Order: sequence, then structure tokens, then C-alpha cells
Amino acid sequence: MLAGLYRALQHRSSRALLAALCLAPVAAAAQDALLPQERMTQIGEVIRVTPHRAIALLEKLDAETAGGPPGQRAQFLVLSCDLRHRLGEHLVSSALCEQAVQLARQARSDDVLARALLSKAYALFSLNEMARSHQLIWEAEKLSSTSRNDTLRVHALISSGEAYAEDGNFLAALSKLQAAVTLARQTGQPLLAVISLKSLAYQYYLMREYDKGFEAIEEALRTAETMEAPGRLAILKTTEYILSVAAGDLPRGVRALQSALALEREIGARAMIANTLINLSDAYLKQRDYRAALSSGQQGLAQARALHDDANAATALVNVGYAYLGLGRMAEGKKYVDEGIAWYEKAGNKPDLQSVLAEYGDALERAGDLPAALTAYHRERALSNELFERRRQKAMMELQEKYEADKRQRQILLLRQENQVKSTELDNRRLQQRIWWLLALVFALVSTIVGLLYRKVRQANAQLEEKNQELKQQSARDPLTALYNRRHFQEFMRGHDGAGDRAEGGMVSAMYLLDVDHFKHINDTYGHGAGDAVLREIAAALREILRETDMIVRWGGEEFLAFLPSVPRDRLDEVARRLLNGIPARTIDYQGVPLSVNVSIGFAPFPLGPGTESVSWERAVNIVDMALYLAKGHGRNRAYGVRGLARLDGAAMDEIEQDIEGAWRAGRIDLAIVHGNPPELRMAS
Ligand code: GH3
Ligand code: MG
Ligand code: MG
Repeated sequence: MLAGLYRALQHRSSRALLAALCLAPVAAAAQDALLPQERMTQIGEVIRVTPHRAIALLEKLDAETAGGPPGQRAQFLVLSCDLRHRLGEHLVSSALCEQAVQLARQARSDDVLARALLSKAYALFSLNEMARSHQLIWEAEKLSSTSRNDTLRVHALISSGEAYAEDGNFLAALSKLQAAVTLARQTGQPLLAVISLKSLAYQYYLMREYDKGFEAIEEALRTAETMEAPGRLAILKTTEYILSVAAGDLPRGVRALQSALALEREIGARAMIANTLINLSDAYLKQRDYRAALSSGQQGLAQARALHDDANAATALVNVGYAYLGLGRMAEGKKYVDEGIAWYEKAGNKPDLQSVLAEYGDALERAGDLPAALTAYHRERALSNELFERRRQKAMMELQEKYEADKRQRQILLLRQENQVKSTELDNRRLQQRIWWLLALVFALVSTIVGLLYRKVRQANAQLEEKNQELKQQSARDPLTALYNRRHFQEFMRGHDGAGDRAEGGMVSAMYLLDVDHFKHINDTYGHGAGDAVLREIAAALREILRETDMIVRWGGEEFLAFLPSVPRDRLDEVARRLLNGIPARTIDYQGVPLSVNVSIGFAPFPLGPGTESVSWERAVNIVDMALYLAKGHGRNRAYGVRGLARLDGAAMDEIEQDIEGAWRAGRIDLAIVHGNPPELRMAS
């Protein structure tokens, strides 16, 4: 059995030295407050090789830095942490490093902080907290990457490489360690080169590239030989041994261990001596040199017990036991091995226990104790199954965890996509809503405008209607007298052609055409305004004299026409008389001058008489006009009315129209003559 401690010593060897080495130049201000590098290096090397001698050194340093600047105190704590780690007191070591971390932060020194983080990582590694240990290492590597302290950077690179190797990432590990070697060579510091080359060699061992491993370790050995560093040489020799055994060169391994042992004895490196002795016993066992194995095993056991190193003591016990078995001393052999196994069982170190049991079985078999060998194999198998099952479960759990993590990742991705879709949908909806709002707004606006326009149109229509009515009114009425105009009368008469039915009951329609006598004189004498006033007065007189059902029309300038739709045939003359006398009766006062006028009238029934229903109203008006002409011609202030016609044909009508006086004298038309009262009689009428 190989010395269990060799893992910590070999694999982690570079880390412990860091305490001494990485407090190289820092920022000027902080530098004043930090311990000199030479001293740190010296103490660090002592801790690494002969930790029991470092205790006194650190006690001295404790007194020195107590109450000193936090940076210095942090440096002291880092060294203390490394010492406790080297002595196997990992919990204490971790607590000291945590204090160092806090003080380094307080001192605001990134270099000391990185250094403290690395040391804490080593303590955590020994406490089986691999993941956290790696985290701290990579944090320290990041912190130190910009540092001007090459020593710190080399050590951070080495630690990072070893962490990658522990994670199984050999490629990353190799690149980090090669970078460490390159940087170490550049610094020209042989110690850094030795440390980094040793780690690189070990990495090649892990990768089974033994030639390269030997190459690296040989360069390291050559470099170390130029230095006064027997401890370092011994460490390198141990690595050479590991490489040699793996490469199948057992004699070279034994030689390396023997020279390591000589060096360690030279400097009194007790822990290393114990370790090397145990490894030697293992090597002799492999060579079946049981006497030598027994001797070195027993020496190693004594050393380990003196150091209270139970783990190494247990390894030594099984090696001594194998040696006894090899020598055929079965009872003693079994006693030693069983004692060692008991310790492994107590410590719960099942992987080591398993390999011990396998070796035990081999040893027993070789010694000829087949039943015992079988028992050992059975125990080994059971343990192997248990470990396999545990590993399988762990792998399953890791797989499960990874699967869960993947699932979560996918869910997050899906959720994110869903969210994106949703937010896009939301945006769309918002846009749609906005469009709808806009449309609604536009619609409302348009509606309002249309409504307003509609109201305006309606108002305009109403006004138009009003205006139309007005216009119609105006077009039907004469503006001066407000009587109907000639156009309106024409329209009206279109429906009144040949209203013969009224003639039956002695009732007829009748037309009276009036013309003011000597109206020019009024205008000429009193002005046009006076003429207008007189015309208005005549209109008023006509309305008074005639009935409401009678249509009174302003026929022309000072001519009026009255159409009486229904009047007794024998009362036509009387109506004429009322008109002749009624109009002059109304005197108006024009600017203090009393004005009144006479009228002349032509009138006729309509139709003109029985059998004249076909005669148009226009023609009837023409004949009435002729009668009026007669009235004018015969002295004015009188009315001539058609009483009857001798002939009703068109030719007779033409004759009357052209010469009414001739027709009258020839007896072709019968006319009634009504005289208006002379002026002196008017007041009485
Ligand atoms: P008579 O009919 O008796 O033969 O004589 P008269 O003076 O009435 O003759 P006439 O018919 O030739 O003249 C009519 C006058 O009436 C001519 C014109 O200036 C006037 N007149 C026509 N319309 C208006 C009007 O609206 N206002 C005023 N002030 N005068 C008008
Ligand atoms: Mg006239
Ligand atoms: Mg006239």
C-alpha cells in the first residue's frame, strides 16, 4: 500500500509553498506594510518540508504582527493556515485562512487576498469540499491575472491547472501548467521553475505520458540541484518514483525513493521520511523483497505513530502485514493487516479499504491461505459492489441533476419564447386597439362633422325653404302693393278656363281691368313717391271693395285686374260702380296735400257668355282691355262692360279686339256703361 499522504504531499505540494512565495512586490503603499518576501519564502519552505520546525517561527511572527497593519497580519494568518494544513488540522487551517481573507480585503491588497483564497482552497480540498475549493482557486486566478507579482501568478496558474485536472479536464490542466512553466522560466526564479515543472510532470503522469513526465521531472531535478534545496529535491524524487512505478521501471522508483529518504534524513523532514519509508515498503513488496519491505514498513510505522499520523500508520500496518504474509508468518501478517483495515473501516475510507482488501486477498493467496484469501475477496467484492452502486447512484443523481438543469433551461427558454410571443401579441393587440381608437375617433369626428353639416344643411334647407316661400311669395306678389302679380294670375287662370258650371245658377266669374286716370299728372306734379303712395292706396281700396275670395292683381304700372270667381250675372255693373266710386273716395295725405284719383274700367263676365266657354281667358282679357279703351276714350271715370256677343266665332272675336267701337256700333257686341260719380258727388256716395 502506498502512503496515503503522498497525495497531499505530491499532488498538493506546490500549494503549501505559496505562502512563502507569493507576497512579492505589491502596490507601493501596501508594500510598506507587508512582510519582506525573503522571510515569507524562508518560512514557507520550512512549513513545506519540516512543519514541526515552523511552529516556533510562526509564534515569533505572531508576536511581531500582533496589532500590526492588517496586510501583515493577513500574511501571518496565511502562513499559519498553511502550517495547520501541513499538520493535518484542516478545520483550523480553513478558519485561519478565512480570517486571512477578511484581513486582506480590509487591507485592500488583491495579491494577499488571492494568496489567502488559494490557501483556503487547499484546506477545503482536504475537507473534501472540492467544488468550493476550485471556485476559490479560479477566483484567486482571476484576481492575480492582472497582478505584477509573477510569483503569485505562477502559483495561481499551477493551482488552476491542478483544479482542472481534478475536474477531469486534462487539456485545460495541461495548458495552465504549461503556461505556469513558461512564466516561471521567464521570471528566472529557479524555485518557481522547479515547482511548476513538478506539477507538469505529475500532469503527464495522470495523462500516462511518462516520457514527457520524465523530461519535465529531469529538468526540475537539474534546476533544483543548482539550488540549496534538499527538501525540494526530495519532493522531486518522490514524483520521479511515482512516474517510474507507473512506467514499469520499479528499480528506478526504488532508487528515487532511496535518494529521497537520504535527503529527508539529512534535513530531518519527519513527515516526509515517514511517507517515503511507507512508499519504499510498498515498492519492496512489489519487488517481493519482503524483508526490506518489513524493515521500511516498520520504520515508517514508528515514524507515523510518532507524528500521530493515523492514516499513514494504517498504511504502514497493512504493508508490514503483507511483508509478514510474504515471509510466511501468517498470524502476524493477518494481525497487522486486520489492524490497518480496522482503521480504514473506522475512518470510513471505503475506496482505500477496497484496494487494501484486494491487495490482502492477493497476499493471502500468494501465501497459500486460500480460505482467508477468499474471505478477503468476498469483502472486497461486496465493498466494490457497494461502491459501484454508490457511484452509480451518484452518477444517476448527477445525471438527474443535469437533466433537471437542462429541463429547467429548456423551460426557461420556452417561457422566454412564450413571453416574446405574448409580448408581440400584446403589442399587436395594443396596436389594434390604438387603430380602433383612432378609427373610433375619426368616426366620431366625421360623425360630428357630418352631424354639424347635416344640421347646417337642414338649417340651410329650412332657410332655403323659407326663402323659397318668400321668393314664391315675392314671385307671386307685387312688391309695391303686395297684390298678386300678372304671372301669378296667369298660373291661376290655367285652372279656370271655361268655368261654365257657375253660369248655371246665374253666377259667373268676372274680370275688371282698371287704369288710373291721368296718373302721369300725379307723378309729374308730386313726384314718383306720391304716385307710389297712391298706388298702394288703390290696392287697399280694392281689397276693401272686393271680397277676400276675389283675386286682385297689379296688372301693370297703374293698371289693376280683379278676377271675381263667383258673382251674380246681374250684379256686374254694380261692382263696376262700387269700384269707380270707391277708389276716388279714398284720399291720401301726401305732405299735406290731399290726393285722390279716378279710374276707368273695362269688364266682362268670364266666360264672356253662353257658348263662349272655348274662348280663352287671354282673349277675354283683351276684350276687357278694349272695353277699358272705350271707357278712356269716352271721358274716363267710367266703366264699359261686355254684356253679350252677337257671334261667338273666332273671326268675331278678332274684329272686337281690333275695333270694339265699330263692333259695338254694328251691334255685334252689347256693352253696359257705368259712370263714376262726378267729384262733387263723391263724398256722398
Ligand atoms: P290716362 O290713363 O288717363 O290716359 O292717363 P295717364 O296719365 O294715366 O296715362 P298713361 O297710362 O300714359 O300713364 C301712366 C303713367 O303711370 C306713366 C307712368 O310713369 C306711371 N306709372 C306707371 N307705373 C308706376 C308706378 O309704379 N309708380 C308711379 N309713381 N308711377 C307709375
Ligand atoms: Mg295706363
Ligand atoms: Mg292711366
